[in-house]
Amino acid sequence: MFGGRTPPMTAAGLTRIDRATLWVDLSAVRINYRLMRRRVPRATFGAVVKADAYGLGLAAVAATLVDEGCRQFWVNTADEADTVLDVAAGRGTTATVFTLQGLQGRAPAARPGVVPVLAALEEVDRAAAAAASADRRVAVAIQLDTGLGRIGLTETEMTTLAADPTRLAGLAVVVWMSQTVNYHRPTDPVNACQRARLEAWTRGLPAAPLSLLTSAGCEVLPPEAQLDAVRVGSALYGVRTTEEARVALAPVVRVAAPILRLSDHSAGATIGYGGVTRLARASRIATIGAGYGDGLAPSLGDGGRAVIAGCEVPLVGGLSMSLVMADVSALPAAAVRPGMVAHLIGGPLSINRVAEQIGWTPNALLLHLGKGARRCHTDRAAPPVIDDDRVANR
Ligand SMILES: *Cc1c(COP(=O)(O)O)cnc(C)c1O
Repeated sequence: MFGGRTPPMTAAGLTRIDRATLWVDLSAVRINYRLMRRRVPRATFGAVVKADAYGLGLAAVAATLVDEGCRQFWVNTADEADTVLDVAAGRGTTATVFTLQGLQGRAPAARPGVVPVLAALEEVDRAAAAAASADRRVAVAIQLDTGLGRIGLTETEMTTLAADPTRLAGLAVVVWMSQTVNYHRPTDPVNACQRARLEAWTRGLPAAPLSLLTSAGCEVLPPEAQLDAVRVGSALYGVRTTEEARVALAPVVRVAAPILRLSDHSAGATIGYGGVTRLARASRIATIGAGYGDGLAPSLGDGGRAVIAGCEVPLVGGLSMSLVMADVSALPAAAVRPGMVAHLIGGPLSINRVAEQIGWTPNALLLHLGKGARRCHTDRAAPPVIDDDRVANR
C-alpha cells in the first residue's frame, strides 16, 4: 500500500470495501512505463503527470516513475512541479519538470528544475526580461501552435521571433514542442504537416530538442519518427488513445463497491427516481453503494455494467449520488449476498470500454473517478478485496 486513504481491514487481513473505492495499481504504472520506454529507445522520455497524474495521485505516481528512472515530467502548474521535485528530492535525485500552462502573466518560477512552457511571444519577452533583471539564464520550453489553435506561438509570432532572435537573449531553450490535432491517429497526414511546421518554424533559431508525440504516437510510430523528446501520459495509466496499435497496456485502475441489499420485484415494477426503469419480468435487484458522488458517470446507471460474483450484469434504475442498482436475476440466488463486492471498473469493464459506452473520453472518466471515489494505492495487481460471502460475513 502506498500512502493514500487506507480502507479498513478485517481480522483475516483482507480489505473491507465499505464504500466505493478506486484502486490505483502502481505496479501496473511501472509495467506500462517499461512497455512505453521500450517503444521509445532514442528520444528523451517525459512522463505527463498533469492534473494530479490524471486523477490517480501525483505524489504516488511520480514516486513510482522516479524509482523507474524517469527524470523528465510534464505538469500543468508550478504547484504540481513542486510536488514532483519534492518527490524526486525525497528519493535523493533531481528532475526536470515542464509546466504546460505557461507564465500566466507572472515571472518564471525560480526553483531549479522547473521549466515553463511558454505559450505566446509575450511570454518569451517576459521570460527574457526576468533573465535580464536576475542576471541569470532562464531555462524555457517554447510551445508552437502548429495547428491546434489552442496554445503556443502562432506562425506569425514565430516569424517575428525568427526575424529577431535576440528576443531570446538570456533564455536557454530546452525544447521546442507542439501538440498534434489528430493525436489519436498518429499516421494522419495532418500530424506530418504539423511536424514539418515544427521543424521549419524553428530553423535558424537556437537548436534544441523537438517534441511532438504523445502516447498514441509512441505506440504507433517507429523510433526514427519520434523526434527528440516525447510526452507520454495516458499509456502509463493503462488508457488506450489510438486504434492504430495495440500495446498490451496493463490496467491501472479498478473501482469496487459493496452490495447493500438484495430484493425481489415483480414484472412491471419500476426501479429508481422517476420510475426510470420498468422491469419487463420478475427481477432480483442488488443495490450497490456507489454513485456519482464517488465519481461514477450518471449515465452508467442505465445501461452500464457491473461484475458481481464473476458475472457481468446490467445496471438499472439510474445512478444517484451514492447508490446504483444491478439486475442480478441471471445469477443463482445464493450467489449474491449483502456485503459482497460489485466491480464497476476493472477486468472486462476497462476504462476504455466504460468510457466509450458513456461517450466520454477515457481520461475524463479517470479524472472524474479520481476526484470522487476513495482512492487507494496498491503495489500489486490484485488488492485483497472481500468478494465472497464466506469472508464478508466474518
Ligand atoms: C496531456 C498532454 C500530453 C499527454 O498525452 P497522452 O495522450 O495522455 O499521452 C502530452 N502533451 C501535452 C501538451 C499534453 O497536454
